[in-house]
Amino acid sequence: MPRELLLQVTPEIAANELLLKDYLSKQIKVSPKEIQHVAILKRSIDARQKAIKINLKVTIFLQGEPFQENKIELPVYKNVSSAQEVIVVGAGPAGLFAALQLIELGLKPIVIERGKDVRGRRRDLKAINVDHIVNEDSNYCFGEGGAGTYSDGKLYTRSKKRGDVTRILELLVAFGASEDILIEAHPHIGTNKLPKIIEDIRNKIIEFGGQVLFDTRVTDILIKNNEVAGIVTQKGDTIVANKLILATGHSARDIFELLDRKKIFIEAKPFALGVRAEHSQTLIDSIQYSCDYRGEHLPPAPYSIVKQVGGRGMYSFCMCPGGVIAPCATSPGEVVTNGWSPSKRDQITANSGIVIELKLEDFKPFAKFGALAGMEFQKSIEQKAWHLAGHSSVSEQAKQTQKVPAQRMVDFTQNKVSSDIPKTSYVPGTTSVEMGQVFPGFLSQILREGFQEFGKSMRGYLTNEAILHAPESRTSSPVRIPRNPETYEHLQIKGLYPCGEGAGYAGGIISAAIDGEKCALMIAATLK
Ligand code: FAD
Repeated sequence: MPRELLLQVTPEIAANELLLKDYLSKQIKVSPKEIQHVAILKRSIDARQKAIKINLKVTIFLQGEPFQENKIELPVYKNVSSAQEVIVVGAGPAGLFAALQLIELGLKPIVIERGKDVRGRRRDLKAINVDHIVNEDSNYCFGEGGAGTYSDGKLYTRSKKRGDVTRILELLVAFGASEDILIEAHPHIGTNKLPKIIEDIRNKIIEFGGQVLFDTRVTDILIKNNEVAGIVTQKGDTIVANKLILATGHSARDIFELLDRKKIFIEAKPFALGVRAEHSQTLIDSIQYSCDYRGEHLPPAPYSIVKQVGGRGMYSFCMCPGGVIAPCATSPGEVVTNGWSPSKRDQITANSGIVIELKLEDFKPFAKFGALAGMEFQKSIEQKAWHLAGHSSVSEQAKQTQKVPAQRMVDFTQNKVSSDIPKTSYVPGTTSVEMGQVFPGFLSQILREGFQEFGKSMRGYLTNEAILHAPESRTSSPVRIPRNPETYEHLQIKGLYPCGEGAGYAGGIISAAIDGEKCALMIAATLK
């Protein structure tokens, strides 16, 4: 019988099949030649001690024991071109996985996406980085694959339902992701690999009779007798259907405004906000691995840190080892930061959102906006940052930039404007600004205290070599679109399925994909 074993080995052994076989042969007292195959089931890094170890869960197959390569296949899809139509608005992870699931269930998805396909989108990313031009329909948040396409592609989630997570990971593998994502404790895909996977998902949807429309923004939802009747696009076209999955993400402010205008019930939702900190990756490696040089067998180190400061949670968010800070604004006149990494995470800098939990009471100054109060609070900070970094006192021309306010970390904790800001990975550039001007006083205060606390937990983290960029403001949706927890249908509108991160039911690629699948399953259940 093949044997399953939990073990701790050095990074060198974990990275080398022969060394691993040799090590295991001694453990189970057989000769290395007798080991036919070692299947790695789980891999994680234990960096708690100075001598870093890799935890492995393996199955050992000896010669003669039955062993078969576990090939991951796509589900069996049937052609749905003449099946009942379901509109899916948004081609992010929620929308795309909803569409795949609809096909699996014999329903025809019509995916409507305001942005361009992954290739076309690249030009707009260049435009925002280099020319400071924000395309309101095609950017780091909008376009095929949604906000997750040009990201680090981290695939971990707090979801407790491992079965659901495994299903999404296996689908990603079937669409071309490395099988490593099935075994790593903290899997990620990387910006360079994600677009091809997304493209293949789209092609599969089309191959089996679904439709995918790009450059098509939904501007109205048609409702008759409190039931969905279809949608209207910016081109004036109407698409009729009585089932609609609304998966437009946390940045679709026009959708939140539309729902509010149409008196479709939505509510303000707390989210988190702060800055994006950038350190050298070498420094983060040396802190996390307690060494000067991480060597060739360890990956660029991530970090994750949470503190309670001033009665609020302050934590790292969407940390990108070996990554780059990206301009993620979705409208002109605002700046937003987030981060991405290539699959090798081989850039010289490490960045992470460092954010503070907001409470509904923080939105009080925007109370007149009702359910949109949090969204307006978020917008006001993004616009203020844009003004501050664009030097509002100089010419209008100078204001039209995607530069962000930046400050050295220690200077920030000491309320001191930085005399200079070195070049960072944020391509549009930075302007030295005292961050206290960007945020309300209580937020700046918590951030200042929090960075000092972080410095105590991670020696070396609080350094003037680290640069803060502002704001990190699109952490999750500022609005919830409430739905029935049993049926996933909107509380008031029949046939409307609020879905994914924008509706407040997901945070990240995997949970959004899971939610997309769930919405499709709920729709199929009503049609039985
Ligand atoms: P989205 O991905 O936001 O997709 C919504 C889609 O709807 C968009 O494509 C948008 O264009 C479209 N849309 C909006 N309005 C309309 C309209 N009116 N008509 C038609 N279409 C519309 N998460 C992780 O788990 N790991 C990471 O490493 C990670 N890194 C990130 C890095 C960056 C730079 C960014 C921006 C986000 C990152 N995230 C990451 C977050 C993750 O991308 C989101 O949680 C996830 O994409 C949410 O999925 P969604 O499908 O709910 O919404």
